[in-house]
Amino acid sequence: MTFPRPFRALAFGFLAASALFAADRAPVRLEVDAREATRKIFHARLTIPVEPGPLTLLSPKWLPGEHGPTGPIADVAGLRIRAGGQAIPWTRDSVDMYAFRCDVPPGTSEIEVLLDYLSPAAAGGFSSGASATANLAVLNWNPLLLYPKGADPDTLQYAASLRLPPGWSHATALVPESTGASGDSVRFLPVSLTTLVDSPVLAGAHFRVVTLSTDAPAHRIDIAADSEAALAMDARTQSAYRNLVAETGALFGARHYRHYDFLLTLSDTVAHFGLEHHESSDDRVAERSLIDEEKRKANLADLLSHEMVHSWNGKYRRPAGLMPGHFDEPMRGDLLWVYEGLTQYLGVVLAARSANITPEQYRDLLALTAADMEAQKGRSWRTLADTAVTAQVLYEARSDWGSWRRGVDFYPESNLLWLEADTLIRRETRGSKSLDDFCRLFFGGKSGPPAVVPYTEDDVYAALHRIAPHDWKRFWTERLQSLAPGAPVGGIVAAGWKLGWADTPSEMQKAREEAGKVTDVRFSIGIFVAEDGSIPDVVPDSPAARAGIGPGMRLAAVNGRRWSRDILREAIRGTGGKALELLVENGEFYRSYRLEYSGGERYPRLERDPNRPDLLSLIARPLAPPPPAK
Ligand SMILES: [Zn+2]
Repeated sequence: MTFPRPFRALAFGFLAASALFAADRAPVRLEVDAREATRKIFHARLTIPVEPGPLTLLSPKWLPGEHGPTGPIADVAGLRIRAGGQAIPWTRDSVDMYAFRCDVPPGTSEIEVLLDYLSPAAAGGFSSGASATANLAVLNWNPLLLYPKGADPDTLQYAASLRLPPGWSHATALVPESTGASGDSVRFLPVSLTTLVDSPVLAGAHFRVVTLSTDAPAHRIDIAADSEAALAMDARTQSAYRNLVAETGALFGARHYRHYDFLLTLSDTVAHFGLEHHESSDDRVAERSLIDEEKRKANLADLLSHEMVHSWNGKYRRPAGLMPGHFDEPMRGDLLWVYEGLTQYLGVVLAARSANITPEQYRDLLALTAADMEAQKGRSWRTLADTAVTAQVLYEARSDWGSWRRGVDFYPESNLLWLEADTLIRRETRGSKSLDDFCRLFFGGKSGPPAVVPYTEDDVYAALHRIAPHDWKRFWTERLQSLAPGAPVGGIVAAGWKLGWADTPSEMQKAREEAGKVTDVRFSIGIFVAEDGSIPDVVPDSPAARAGIGPGMRLAAVNGRRWSRDILREAIRGTGGKALELLVENGEFYRSYRLEYSGGERYPRLERDPNRPDLLSLIARPLAPPPPAK
């Protein structure tokens, strides 16, 4: 991918790359040896064209899509720099941990850099989290390379090659130039540093490619799993993902990629998340997510649709603050309520339109989102805008006291707010326009290879205004700066529904509890409980909080009997007038807590308001005719 220069120049007054590393120089050669991936170590050798004199080499620090300084520099090891077989000493900058300085000897035109990336074994984190198992690996290039300070990542070229364990297959957005005879090594066509960092490789022993569309641009789901059995995506799921391709086309009206590859990892021992790229996405879920319906509902409901939406919202159109010129320049997250918030909204809507979830499951997800925001008591001190600005530290925040701290609420809360914007457009235009029209206007344009068009907050308001004249700046400012308690449910109400409560968990909540191995009784007594009894968080002001229970404690017994999900639920159900006794372990000490609660079980559900038209059903209706089955 090459970013069109005029946009960059316009947005940042960006200066041309240093003459030292101009685009017409030979590419940096990057040879990665992943044959020891199963031992959690990757080896890299770089050959970098240079001029004699002082040189600073950088490791990418600010990673696109992760919205923070998450380059795993502590896991870069074995760094050696050489020229003509002679070692060149290096020193690290004492302030910037990602910068290495050396002096290139006279007469030297290229240096060799050797380094290893130590891939974590424990799950957790994002791309720098666990990424390799005994059977598969997701390879991100950023910790396996250095680049000369001052070079322009959009023009500096890298010719990458990769060696894999014997018998492994692979997929990536990169285009192969040649493949070794055994198929275990591949050389890719040179690409810019920006594109290389944006193009991870998924590889593994158990591998399958599901073709979603063959017409240009082609769409595929490339799957690597920890077992052959886990690859069995059924025909109904395949058909839903084909629908997703058709629905994104109908929504946006143009595509900004040459092909699109979902790189789907199925493993219980890698970090679980989705990370967007322009022509691919790195989607990692539990091993049995395709073959166990509960896990599919919990882990895959809207994951692929969310990451795919990012190809338009996040990659093609990107907030100016999330598009620094270099990987060593800080990002600003203040527009993440658009980048992530609108993607969250569209990801769930597209999951419903493509039949990845049913209309009822779509409503269950909205009910859970509204209830989650209801429980976020930190909404009384921290604005939604502040969660976006603080994204770079909030992603790593712990779960304890999470409902007082607030987390990355610019996903779930913005989901509710974009629903409200959608209903407002439909109301103001008497049903002739919707947020779909905004999406087509803002993210559509002309189809073609990857490009980036940056935007500002005012660009968003202006585009919304073109669809439905309204004081959009005021609409968003009020909501982004609000400290009002209670979830913003204006969109749900305007769509003809309201947040209600049932005495049994919804299908989607059950699936989440099963997959996450937790029991969620936040909306009755104010806690959720992990499988081992530990209490990751307590909702402030809830019955549990008032009784003195805090996060980090461990539930041992309920009304004198060893705790289990059923025992806890039965006790909550039967609290008619009786107090609930919880025996709780706090470190090495046990104590009994008496909860004053008599409200029975309480789980969120949307209830229909017959006095208003049902816009949610309209929003969830497919735009595209279903593609023919293949
Ligand atoms: Zn996202």
